[in-house]
Amino acid sequence: MIKELNITKSDFLDYENCKKNFWLKKNKPKLFEEINLSEFELKIIEEGNFVDKEIKHIFPDGIIVDIGENSLRETIDEINNFSTILQGSIECKDFFIRFDVLQYNKNKDSWDLFEVKSSSSVKEENISDITFQKIVAENSGIKINRLFIVHLNKNYKNEGSIDYDKLFVKSEVSSQVKSIEDSIRVKMNEIKNYLNSPEEKGCDCIYKSRSKHCSSFSYSNPDIKDNSIYELNRISKKTILDLIEKKELSLDNISDLSSLSKYQSLQLESYKSKSPIYNLNEIKEELNNLSFPLQFFDFETFSNAIPRFENMGSNDAVPIQFSNHILNIDGSLDHREFIQDKYSKNITISLVESIVNNVFDQGTIICWYKPFEKRMLKRLIELYPEHSNFLENINNRIYDLMDIFSKGIYVDYKFQGSSSLKNVLPVLVPSLSYKNMDIQDGAQAASEWERMIFDTSVDSENIKQNLLKYCSQDTLAMVEIYKFLRNL
Ligand code: SF4
Repeated sequence: MIKELNITKSDFLDYENCKKNFWLKKNKPKLFEEINLSEFELKIIEEGNFVDKEIKHIFPDGIIVDIGENSLRETIDEINNFSTILQGSIECKDFFIRFDVLQYNKNKDSWDLFEVKSSSSVKEENISDITFQKIVAENSGIKINRLFIVHLNKNYKNEGSIDYDKLFVKSEVSSQVKSIEDSIRVKMNEIKNYLNSPEEKGCDCIYKSRSKHCSSFSYSNPDIKDNSIYELNRISKKTILDLIEKKELSLDNISDLSSLSKYQSLQLESYKSKSPIYNLNEIKEELNNLSFPLQFFDFETFSNAIPRFENMGSNDAVPIQFSNHILNIDGSLDHREFIQDKYSKNITISLVESIVNNVFDQGTIICWYKPFEKRMLKRLIELYPEHSNFLENINNRIYDLMDIFSKGIYVDYKFQGSSSLKNVLPVLVPSLSYKNMDIQDGAQAASEWERMIFDTSVDSENIKQNLLKYCSQDTLAMVEIYKFLRNL
């Protein structure tokens, strides 16, 4: 017997993204209670939060329908009033949608449907998404005329306040929807049968690298344990296929190194010998080229779909905090830092002034993954040409400590194929851990900073101290890794 269904828009997008993952979520929801969400799932949640916050700015005359048991009835009431309806609900047969905007078009005696996105262009999956909504709306008796994706204008810059009419673009996608409507209908029919079919064994991600795996990978592939081929650094699809064919899914089983890169071979050698592999001469050469005072430097940044500060565009990242640990030639260590802790239209001016006062004009600037710091300095140079000489000079003195790990000069299988600071530090300097810190990564730091600046209900001093601690930990970690390498 066919189960009772309630397929939402997110379910349908899940199904389009990965059928197996969709099946598990619907049939074995308990599995997902304690595991981290995948990037795709987080993106769907983020989009939802974004629409909740911004929709009224884009459609100021719209009437928001409350979420809850009355949402279906309230939506029907507003349809009968010919209102512009925001976030209403429609249910038909096995499908349910919560649309972003439904607007009555008097001339055509029908409705225009809008889907709001935080991206700066129309994506393929947006067309599937709005087509699904159109079908559900039409099946419930609502006549749909035109369809639009509302997205951000990538050329928009905040010139002192946000102009929502210029910030958002309404792109009509009616013809694209028409071209895929039949295939979406077919998929919607297939969903029921798929959900009632027996569970498929394994899943397709076995042929893909680790970054593509979702949170249910280990459940679907229980034979793949720790120290598998997916931990090999930048493993290609071709190498994965080769190794699967030879049934060599564990690092223990790999016999032929010919398909592995130089780094991967070193990683395997490290795994088999259970010790790090490194080239001491090359490490010495790299470190001897650095000049004192060594300045271990790191930015934290903020970006937002809505450019809330002057001169910012959508999703433009700007630095709002830095930490600089200074290691002098006599071994003494100083620390300088800055955080923008109050709202200001011009959010980066105090930071730039602090850089000028707290970074020396000589000595090597040491970062971890230098393209990021270089990009931020370039951005500050654009904004403050009067400081360009000083900032250029910093940019020219940057050395990337990560190179020693990413270029395979020091390889340890315990890094699990990654050269990120968060993977290297606990292996080389286990005493300096991020584990008990309130802020664990850059993304969390950015959202905490946003709360500190805009949310009046939070303990902003506490957040500020956590942010200072986190950024300082990143630069102190580099100091300790540098010392570790020096002591080899
Ligand atoms: S690991 Fe990949 S194929 Fe497997 S369920 Fe997740 S997304 Fe789908």
